[in-house]
Amino acid sequence: MPTHTREIHLSARPSGLPGPEHFTIVEVDLPDPGEGEVLVRNTFLSVDPYMRGRMNDVKSYTPPFALDAPLEGGAVGVVEQSSSERLHPGDTVLHMAGWREHAVLPAAHARRLDTERVPASAYLGVLGMPGLTAYVGLTRIAEMREGDTVFVSGAAGAVGSVAGQVARLLGAGKVVGSAGTPEKVAWLVDELGFDAAFDYHDGPVAKQLAQHAPIDVYFDNVGGEHLEGAIFHMADFGRIAACGAIAGYNAEAPEPGPRNLMMVVAKRLTLRGFIVSDHQEAASDFYRDAGGWLAAGDLVYRETFLDGLDSMIDAFRGLYSGENVGKMLVRL
Ligand code: NDP
Repeated sequence: MPTHTREIHLSARPSGLPGPEHFTIVEVDLPDPGEGEVLVRNTFLSVDPYMRGRMNDVKSYTPPFALDAPLEGGAVGVVEQSSSERLHPGDTVLHMAGWREHAVLPAAHARRLDTERVPASAYLGVLGMPGLTAYVGLTRIAEMREGDTVFVSGAAGAVGSVAGQVARLLGAGKVVGSAGTPEKVAWLVDELGFDAAFDYHDGPVAKQLAQHAPIDVYFDNVGGEHLEGAIFHMADFGRIAACGAIAGYNAEAPEPGPRNLMMVVAKRLTLRGFIVSDHQEAASDFYRDAGGWLAAGDLVYRETFLDGLDSMIDAFRGLYSGENVGKMLVRL
C-alpha cells in the first residue's frame, strides 16, 4: 500500500481567472484507514465550474474552500484497503475527496458504483451530478412541456449536452443550442439531435436566436449576454431555468444584469434559479430515465480527459476557454 500521496491545495484566493500561482501540489503521508474508513485510489477527478465560486471567501450555497488544505470535488476511485463492512477492496466508488491521488475517508461517504454497463467516469458526468442538473432544470424548474421550443446555452458542456438531449427525448418541439466553436455546433446538430445550433462568437446572441423565437424554455448555463438575448426572444409565460452564469465566474467585479429585465414583467416570464443538491428526490426518476436512454443509445455523451494530477489546474482553467467537449475530467 502507498505510504505517500499527492493532493492539490488552494494556496491563495484568485481574483479573475485562477492560475498556477493559486495552487500548490503537496506530498503528504497517507494514513491507514481507521475503523469504518476506506483507502481509495482515485481514477477520475471531476472538474466543475462551480468550484470557482468556492475559491472566493464569500458565503454562498456551499462554504468557501479552506486555504492550505486539499480542495474537494467529485471523484471516482477504487477501494484499496477497507476497515468497513460496507465496502471491499476492488469496489469502484464515487465520493467527494477529489483533487488528490488517494483519499482516506469514511466508507459512509462513498457510494459503490455499478460499472458493468456504464464506465466509472460516466458517474461524474452524464449519469452523475451534471446529468441530474440537466434533468432537474428541465423537468422540475422549467417544467418543460411537449412541443416547447427549448434553448440551451453552454450546450456542448456536461450539463448542456444532456439538457438538450433530454429536452428532445421529453418531446420538445424544437431544441436550439449555443456553443463556442463550429466543431461543437456540428456535434450538437449531427450527433446529439439538436434541431439547430449556433456559435455565439459569430454575432450577438439576440440576433442569432431571432430565427428560432419564440422560446418557451431557456436553460441558462451562461448568463450575461446569453440571458439578455434569450429574454428578448422568450414567449409570453416562458420559463427560464437559471442553472449557472459561467460568463461571469471570473469577473473581478459584479457585472450589470440583463438590461431588458422589464421584459420579464411584460412577458410574464418565470426565471427560477436552482441548486441540484436540493433536488435529490428527482434522482431515482433521473437514473431510471437516463439509464434507459443510455442503454437504448438515445442519450450519447462525450468526455474530455487530461491526464495526471498535475493537469488538474489546466483542466480547471480550460473550462473557461471551452477546452472541453462534454464532461471535463482528469484521469489518474
Ligand atoms: P461545462 O462542461 O459546460 O464547461 C463549461 C463550458 O462553458 C465550457 O466548455 C465553455 O464552452 C463554456 N463557457 C466558458 N466561458 C464561457 C463564456 N464566457 N460564455 C459562454 N460560454 C462559456 O460545465 P458544466 O456542464 O459542469 O456546467 C455548466 C453550467 O452549469 C455552469 O454555469 C455551472 O456552474 C452550472 N451548474 C449548475 C448546477 C446547479 O446546481 N445549478 C450544477 C452543475 C453545474 P464553449 O466552448 O461553448 O464556450
